[in-house]
Amino acid sequence: MNLEDKLVKLIGCRTVSDADERDESEFAKFREVFAELFPLIHAQLELTVISDGTLLFRWPGRSDGKPIVMMAHYDVVPAPAEQWRNDPFTAVVVDGYVVGRGALDDKGPLVVIAEAVEQLLAQGHVPEQDVWLSFGHDEEVFGSGAAAVVDHFRTLGVRPWLVNDEGGAIVEKAIPGLRGRQAMIAIAEKGTVDIELLATGPGGHASVPMPNGPTARLAKAIVRIEENQSPPRLSEPIIAMIDAMTSKAPSGLRTLIGQAERLDRPLAQLLALAGPEASSMVRTTIAVTKLSGSPANNVLATEARANLNVRLAIGDTIEDLVARLTKLLRGLDVAIVNINGDNPPPVSSVDSPAWHHLVDTLNDLDPKILPIPYVLTGGTDSRNFAHISSSVFRFAPLEMSREQRQSIHAANESVAVASLRSGVAFYRTLLTRPLPV
Ligand SMILES: [Zn+2]
Repeated sequence: MNLEDKLVKLIGCRTVSDADERDESEFAKFREVFAELFPLIHAQLELTVISDGTLLFRWPGRSDGKPIVMMAHYDVVPAPAEQWRNDPFTAVVVDGYVVGRGALDDKGPLVVIAEAVEQLLAQGHVPEQDVWLSFGHDEEVFGSGAAAVVDHFRTLGVRPWLVNDEGGAIVEKAIPGLRGRQAMIAIAEKGTVDIELLATGPGGHASVPMPNGPTARLAKAIVRIEENQSPPRLSEPIIAMIDAMTSKAPSGLRTLIGQAERLDRPLAQLLALAGPEASSMVRTTIAVTKLSGSPANNVLATEARANLNVRLAIGDTIEDLVARLTKLLRGLDVAIVNINGDNPPPVSSVDSPAWHHLVDTLNDLDPKILPIPYVLTGGTDSRNFAHISSSVFRFAPLEMSREQRQSIHAANESVAVASLRSGVAFYRTLLTRPLPV
């Protein structure tokens, strides 16, 4: 069966990660279909099912040094069918594109890894080092599958030499001033934290309102947060990104960039003005999401709550955030409660042999693709691995246009069949290329 038909079959399993919609039988169906489509992986690799759904395969290598972990996840976000041109779970191949939920996030990247390994197994290839495939079942709900794999690795004493997960992609015309194609490889990701603001009061009948009640105080707090965004800051991965972006620039500009650390503030401010994506990379962002107040039309609220979904910039911590909010909201009588989330995980180095292995693999594939390290503003399962490996990268070797990137978690998600094929070539090279010493 060809690659696009395999992807269509996997998309056909409705593995939706959603508190209300999750149907375990669809996850079981995915695992069955996956086993039928990739018989050699299932016959020759050791499979451990972690947390009732995350698939962890071990492909034993000739030596146990430098283990490589390739990650993807097979759960998807919901897909309201009315917004789609075709049924999101009855994927179709149109004009060389597979269209369906999960085409890019993250069944496309998963099928590409599996196909590369299946082909190499068919040829009798034995990797130099252990290769692990970690395919999560609860990434979209910040689940515990990947964390449990890391615990399992700790027990086994496995310290990955290279981890690669979803996140970046091969892009074109995404960065102003840069021609050709770039491979965006995330070496860091922001921390995600939810915090609640809570204002309380005595309540009562709405016909006799009290001034400055819980709802009014909460509203003032929200406005204050909106008007006092966290300042932009340059961090080590942002400097690495600017360095890679300007590697082809004239030497005068290079000298200037060489002093990036001294230019910290102006450069960060420049990036903050370069559009919402760049701006989110250099600062902690706070989005007000869920709101609640009075339970009825004629009742004064005794409690008003707002959820703040915070994405912590590299170098920022939950402690810094709480301190900043406490200062900002002083005098408003609004409490900060229910803090849930994580600090940004450790940043991976672009000076490591593992980084060079990834970049050399890309170069073998197409020397014209420029690798650019960057900061992922969303979260991935790989954040857990950053605590046991210093080389955790987030890069799907697939081409994604702006329109395709915007279709992730939205309607008409699609992946080019040609791109899937070059993705397979990428992983075949990654797994067969001699490792640097
Ligand atoms: Zn994903």
